[in-house]
Amino acid sequence: MSLELFTQTVGPAATKAYLLHETRAKALVIIDPSVGADQLFERARNLVSDGARFQAIWNTHGHFDHVYDNARWKAEFGAPIYAHAGDAYFLEHLREQSLWFGLSAPEEVPVDVELHEGAVLPIGDESALVWELPGHSPGSVAFGFSDFWITGDVLFQNGVGRFDLPGADQRTLARSIARLWTLPDATRILAGHGEPTTIEQEKRGNAVARALLEGF
Ligand SMILES: [Zn+2]
Repeated sequence: MSLELFTQTVGPAATKAYLLHETRAKALVIIDPSVGADQLFERARNLVSDGARFQAIWNTHGHFDHVYDNARWKAEFGAPIYAHAGDAYFLEHLREQSLWFGLSAPEEVPVDVELHEGAVLPIGDESALVWELPGHSPGSVAFGFSDFWITGDVLFQNGVGRFDLPGADQRTLARSIARLWTLPDATRILAGHGEPTTIEQEKRGNAVARALLEGF
């Protein structure tokens, strides 16, 4: 596989931003710019000045801590923003979301390309499969690669996404986690917060997920 993955944990909610670099065709994608991921921003600038093409900004969902810097990355790299229509509301109300959590108001930028279940998104010679995994938010999605998935706030190491926020739903989240359980055990899960994990590890050790699934 020709994918390099760089991660930085940033902002008031310790959110993970993921920069993907497909080294054969020299293509770049940022998944969830988050809040102030300066190391990834500089790395992307350097790769672009070395000839890489910055392809897109993909959002796992529309919560402020994941999308705060969408405008900054779009302004620098001129790349379109991909997000699910179910969370367009959050992108359109980013100022409110951010002020609510004590951050200054960023520029609001709309969704350029809507994500749908089953979409296959190219990144250079590689691609990601899109799954809709609502419950934490109506428009949460995950991006699947051959042996790892970037899943946003659906499932964490020893935890699950919050389901008490506007637009969230406990039963829907349970269904989304049950769907993740259908992935091969060895699949690595790179979530929006916390340490990387695997499907096997969470099936065995994630008591919160188990309780949630047993509730339905
Ligand atoms: Zn979230």
